[in-house]
Amino acid sequence: MKLHFLGTAAAEGFPNVYCKCDTCEKARQSGGRNIRTRCSVIIDDVLKVDQPPDSFTQALRDGIDMSLVRDLLITHTHYDHLNAGELISRMKGYAHGVEHPLNIYGNDLALFQCRQALLEEHEGEKQFYMRRLQPFKQIKVGDAKVTPLLADHDQRETCLIYFLEKDNMNVLYGNDSGWFPDETWEWLKGKKVDFAILDCTVGKNGNKHSGNHMSVESVIEVQNVFREGNLLKDHTKLVVTHFSHNCGLLHEDLVEIFKPYGIEVAYDGMVVNI
Ligand SMILES: [Zn+2]
Ligand SMILES: [Zn+2]
Ligand SMILES: [Zn+2]
Repeated sequence: MKLHFLGTAAAEGFPNVYCKCDTCEKARQSGGRNIRTRCSVIIDDVLKVDQPPDSFTQALRDGIDMSLVRDLLITHTHYDHLNAGELISRMKGYAHGVEHPLNIYGNDLALFQCRQALLEEHEGEKQFYMRRLQPFKQIKVGDAKVTPLLADHDQRETCLIYFLEKDNMNVLYGNDSGWFPDETWEWLKGKKVDFAILDCTVGKNGNKHSGNHMSVESVIEVQNVFREGNLLKDHTKLVVTHFSHNCGLLHEDLVEIFKPYGIEVAYDGMVVNI
């Protein structure tokens, strides 16, 4: 399975183009892995998680053929995760030679926003299938099995994270999550995780069970709970992503912090084959 990290920043991007804080200034100066666009991952070129405002730029930057994408999983509707209007560019008349529909999966609010943006356009109904998800109800997505799990994020909507089973590998896509709710921990009992992508938005905050977004301490605690619960395999990889400039940490700082735990720090354009 190929996991391609298209973006690894929190909502404002890293650096935030409007911000003059020290971290943003340093990120601008050092460039490279310190330049982060908004979070999305593409799996095996055909399954995409989230549609941030940077999808267009990410596709150009990394040479992604977006016409290959068949399934789009939406975690929630914050502006860094869903920019539905962008998908108009995939419609007949705007895009040519794309015959297969795009399946869009998400909570009620995500699908409502997609409907507003797309289904009112001519031909939209044939080109986009909206599939409403319910927490803990597994669905088939291409040749993957996907189970939406609950996050502890924005309480005004049902924010979802995903457990993907494909090619005998289990991948947890965990942002934006906060410390997982009890129901999610309960569901994870007895599972094995080959690869987990975790929310580390806020940097260090001293809270092992950080709500809304996870912190360095929360991610390390997730690793502990996974270990104690026997969820880890020998080769299991944990990767952190969704960084805010407000965390005050540059890429190299994050790498240094997580090195003793064997946790990897994602960056834009990172490709992992598992
Ligand atoms: Zn976010
Ligand atoms: Zn800043
Ligand atoms: Zn969010």
